[in-house]
Amino acid sequence: MADDALRTNLFIGGRWRPADSGERFDVIDPGTEQVVASVASAGAIDARAAAAAAAAAQPGWAAKAPRERGEVLRRSWELLMERAEDLARLITLENGKVLAEAIGEITYAAEFFRWFSEEAVRLTGELTKAPGGANRILVLHQAVGVAYLVTPWNFPAAMATRKIAPALAAGCTVVLKPATLTPLTALAVADALHEAGVPDGVVNVVPGKSASTITAAVLEHERVRKLSFTGSTEVGKKLIEQAAGRVLNVSMELGGNAPFIVLADADLDAAIEGAMIAKMRHNGETCTAANRFYVEAPVAEAFSAKLADAMRALPIGHGLTEGNRLGPLVDADTRDKVAELVDSAVAAGAKALVGGEPPGGTGFYYPATVLTNVAADNPILQEEIFGPVAPIVTVADAEEAVRLANSTTMGLVSYVYTGDLAKGLRVAEALESGMVGLNKGIVSDPAAPFGGVKESGMGREGGHEGMLDYTETKYIATDW
Ligand code: NAP
Repeated sequence: MADDALRTNLFIGGRWRPADSGERFDVIDPGTEQVVASVASAGAIDARAAAAAAAAAQPGWAAKAPRERGEVLRRSWELLMERAEDLARLITLENGKVLAEAIGEITYAAEFFRWFSEEAVRLTGELTKAPGGANRILVLHQAVGVAYLVTPWNFPAAMATRKIAPALAAGCTVVLKPATLTPLTALAVADALHEAGVPDGVVNVVPGKSASTITAAVLEHERVRKLSFTGSTEVGKKLIEQAAGRVLNVSMELGGNAPFIVLADADLDAAIEGAMIAKMRHNGETCTAANRFYVEAPVAEAFSAKLADAMRALPIGHGLTEGNRLGPLVDADTRDKVAELVDSAVAAGAKALVGGEPPGGTGFYYPATVLTNVAADNPILQEEIFGPVAPIVTVADAEEAVRLANSTTMGLVSYVYTGDLAKGLRVAEALESGMVGLNKGIVSDPAAPFGGVKESGMGREGGHEGMLDYTETKYIATDW
């Protein structure tokens, strides 16, 4: 993307403008530690202006024919795909993931607009006769109103589009607060949506240094009726409390701690291929990242050795350099937390088959790491690692694997590899998670309901459910 095309101001009511305070903040390339751009930092005044713009635009947008909204979404998909290469370079620059993965993210992110352009015309209701025969029950789904969206840095495009597309399909307007580490992609996505015909005020973007100031200002606006958050469980809990003040409709996509179970009858090569995707996609910085490997004893050694070989073969370096497969982690804190978790696991008896030592020098790199001899109560299995580290625990059988897999407060996704489909389905049913990859290392699909149970969240994104999350159900009692 040419420098003069880079969007670095706030996007409010269809206009690009600096923050009212004039404040800005720097975005850093995690591979070089150099400044990529300086971005306007929204404060309370800007946040209120964004909420007001979204409120003013909402009735008109909701009143448009569903087909018309769908066509705008379809054009948005086309334009994002036309700009895929430029957008992907921005993701690599501000987030660190390698370019091929960034292109994959844009394809996935854009697909939410195609999927919800098709869903926009399918917001169906229900008409039934009351069991007592006294009246008819007419059920409608209406747009909830203005939605406030808060997104993390790990998928700067997809976490935004997974919310914006269903919200717009349902007839909502939005205010988006992207992560401070990665605001540039969200601003570039907003630019594309504007050009695709999204009317002024329907999408507003307010990055800023103080997430809590922006959030408080937006949530107090009387027309804001929905809070959709993707990020850590810790922040999610605070936001649920905050939303309670106005009894807002809330969706939460929170942290994960995914178990990856390999049973003795699994196709080991397929399990390694799946493990490499589930663990290593986006440097291991995904909520769906395999965080704990539970491998049945007869295949544990072979699986560990093969996984270490596959990890060793990944070239590490800047994401824009062709051939690299593992980029830097997003910042120094993330890299240091990964290093601490690995160091304490090793101190407690784990053995690094590969990796385990940060390379030093410029950039927030951490090598692909496989840990064996990990005790089932090691703290590394209870925390989201958010890095390229695979701790492996040997288990006696499927029952032990399920018991350990469920022994966490999280419940986003689980993975199971087995050659016996019936056994795999039994295990999948027993796992306490919102999603299961059965002989699959990736579950994300715009057409499928994505989301977690327990402290991994509530609500679903994608699928038909994704649009319903931006509606309220209305019941009309009538008769004729
Ligand atoms: P985070 O620290 O919770 O931040 C997420 C977003 O919340 C950012 O925009 C952040 O702004 C904002 N925020 C932070 N404190 C806030 C507050 N007090 N009030 C309002 N907003 C606040 O999470 P992260 O480190 O960016 O992302 C990693 C986490 O997201 C992991 O736990 C991961 O599992 C989870 N995640 C979940 C899913 C899912 O679908 N379940 C998907 C992706 C990621 P700043 O950037 O300004 O701090």
